Amino acid sequence: MFGAVFARCAADRGKRVLIVDKRPHIAGNCYSQQVAGIEVHRYGPHIFHTDNSQVWQFVNRFARFNEYVHRGQVNSGGRTFSFPINLRTLEELWGVSTPEEAKLKLAAVRVPIAEPKNLREWVLSQVGEELYEIFIRGYTTKQWGRDPAHLPASIVKRIPIRTTRDDRYFDDRHQGIPIGGYTRLFENMLDHDAIDVHLQVDYFEQSQGLKTAAGKTVYTGKLDEFFEYRFGELEYRSLRFETEMISGDFQSSAVVNYTDRDTRYTRIIEHKHFEFTQSKQSVITREYPLASAKGLVPYYPVRDAVNTALCGRYLAEAQKSGVLFGGRLAAYQYFDMHQVIGSAMAMARKEFGSATVAPADEAADRRRAA
Ligand code: UDP
Repeated sequence: MFGAVFARCAADRGKRVLIVDKRPHIAGNCYSQQVAGIEVHRYGPHIFHTDNSQVWQFVNRFARFNEYVHRGQVNSGGRTFSFPINLRTLEELWGVSTPEEAKLKLAAVRVPIAEPKNLREWVLSQVGEELYEIFIRGYTTKQWGRDPAHLPASIVKRIPIRTTRDDRYFDDRHQGIPIGGYTRLFENMLDHDAIDVHLQVDYFEQSQGLKTAAGKTVYTGKLDEFFEYRFGELEYRSLRFETEMISGDFQSSAVVNYTDRDTRYTRIIEHKHFEFTQSKQSVITREYPLASAKGLVPYYPVRDAVNTALCGRYLAEAQKSGVLFGGRLAAYQYFDMHQVIGSAMAMARKEFGSATVAPADEAADRRRAA
């Protein structure tokens, strides 16, 4: 995503761009494919949301977005709860029915921790032991492969906690799923005379030639791999997906999280519910977290104290390298999509100045998006 956005921004400013990707397809982990008329998110669910109007305008040049607004659910101990935690959740659990009652109850169960030092302490200080056990502890331990006491609170601060009936997963003004799929969005983004895309090319096998050919290199792979792991390996979490086609409707919503420790997957995705399709069939995916290793796809950087320190050493090298680094893997940051796009746009502005895209071209982009 970072590479594609940067490429398009550079092309809009009159630069020529060559993209190399070792995969056989574009769109990175946003890659989606049609199966029985359903757009399947091959590398996990991608739900677009942003408050940044420049980012929203940018992506709307390449796709129209549907009106999907994400509302989650948690399955715990065989019960289903509304998630993120909101008044409906607290009603389901405690029978409270007004914001005032919810606030009083939360105030009574919160664990007084003045300066929470980790994810566990932060959640306890916000919602207390019972909610921590039901919603956070099992899921987070499975997802990150360690106890929440050894993780930073920033991981969960992205999810709101509310005492109203607003049960949206994200607060952002702009939300949706690209109509026609993410892959189409990226095809449109890269559809520019000045952009060439070479797939199934391993950058490291051709890096010398590529570096000499290019005035500037943007690298979006793993940060530690770029430097041949010289200070040691950074830790990433990976995922395994089990996908099957069923008939009918499995769970009537796009995502259900399974927070119990002994259910090995963390969530089940039912892809058709991102698009309001009336298909009689359905594609569902169970998502199993696992440690990343060579040959597996790295998804999540593990920003604990040890890895953050190691990352700092690599970033210092990156600064000196003359190469530009961006995206989740190369910045070693747990970014959302809109943050990746925003940072790629900002980097292009810094490198090349303001966009010079002709209004006529923008109009053409919009027609294609429609
Ligand atoms: N999380 C949790 N229980 C849930 C959902 C999320 O404990 O039911 C925690 C977990 O640590 C997860 C983090 O919140 O990694 C961020 O969740 P999000 O849904 O944003 O994860 P993503 O979609 O980025 O994997």
